[in-house]
Amino acid sequence: MKAIVVEKPGTVLLKEVEKPEPPAGFVRVKVKSAAICATDLEVIDGNIPANYPLIPGHEWSGIVDSVGSAEDEAWIGKRVIGSNDVVCLKCDACRSGNWRYCSEFEEIGFRRNGAYAEYVIVPAYGLCELPGQVSFDHGALCEPLGVALGTLEKAGAKFGDTLMIMGAGSIGLCMLAAAKAMGIRRIVVCASTGKRLEEARNLGACATIETEKEDVVEVMKGLHPGGSDVVIDATGIESCIQNCLKIARKGGTVALAGYGRGKTMSIRMDDIHINNLRVVGAGNNWNMHKKAVSYMAEGLIDIESFVSKKLNLEEFEEGLAMVRSRPKGFIKAVFQF
Ligand SMILES: [Zn+2]
Ligand SMILES: [Zn+2]
Repeated sequence: MKAIVVEKPGTVLLKEVEKPEPPAGFVRVKVKSAAICATDLEVIDGNIPANYPLIPGHEWSGIVDSVGSAEDEAWIGKRVIGSNDVVCLKCDACRSGNWRYCSEFEEIGFRRNGAYAEYVIVPAYGLCELPGQVSFDHGALCEPLGVALGTLEKAGAKFGDTLMIMGAGSIGLCMLAAAKAMGIRRIVVCASTGKRLEEARNLGACATIETEKEDVVEVMKGLHPGGSDVVIDATGIESCIQNCLKIARKGGTVALAGYGRGKTMSIRMDDIHINNLRVVGAGNNWNMHKKAVSYMAEGLIDIESFVSKKLNLEEFEEGLAMVRSRPKGFIKAVFQF
């Protein structure tokens, strides 16, 4: 089969590899759509723990074409999305539903081969059927939408809260789309440049702030007087997180949802201590695929505008370059098969 392989950090090739066979408990999915995520660039650049050579890709949808166990035969021919979490299902963490805490946790697209290929092997226990009214491209985006839903849930965001989102990457915009559906009020989206802020306004942000040009803390005082109920950092950048801590209201919540690349940072303790902030880590996708796909199927969340570029595998260099440079108006590139 054709696959995009990261041979080692910095070396990416389209090549012919052996079509994988599903072991017991796993299925083989004929990939129909695979979205390129900014995290995939971290894998390509060697900034994230991964097993090389590796086929990246953790945002996917497709059709089950082969199963490793007879008991999973009912999946054959079904349109699916699914969890990327490969876990033991036996330990205390797994039994409490916290697959990400499993000591044997391995993620498809990072430690295991992912979906930048004609076929991907995924665990049968993580599959969800993709309803007919949800396209394969939208199905692939259930992964980042699931990250957004999980973050809002961990932040305790609820109907009527005010929200500021730092970062207008695809995760930041997924959070905006999900938060709108949840009845969150006066959502402000901030980004260093204005390239994606028009998209944020189209998706329903009440205001946007270009942080290279405006003082975000000062502007927020006018937009959310008294501070924001919930602030989400989707950047992982020190100066952005420092500002988030100043923008939350006293007793409010700051959720950290951006990848910190192993860096340390300095914070003003009093911003958290004196203001009684709740600072929560929101670092994973927590089995939210099923919720994400139901919301899409019921028309509660519309991410039609997210798919800005459709590519085939041969055009991978163009796709990766777009994700790296983020041209104006670009949100997501998807490989279609
Ligand atoms: Zn992703
Ligand atoms: Zn486990």
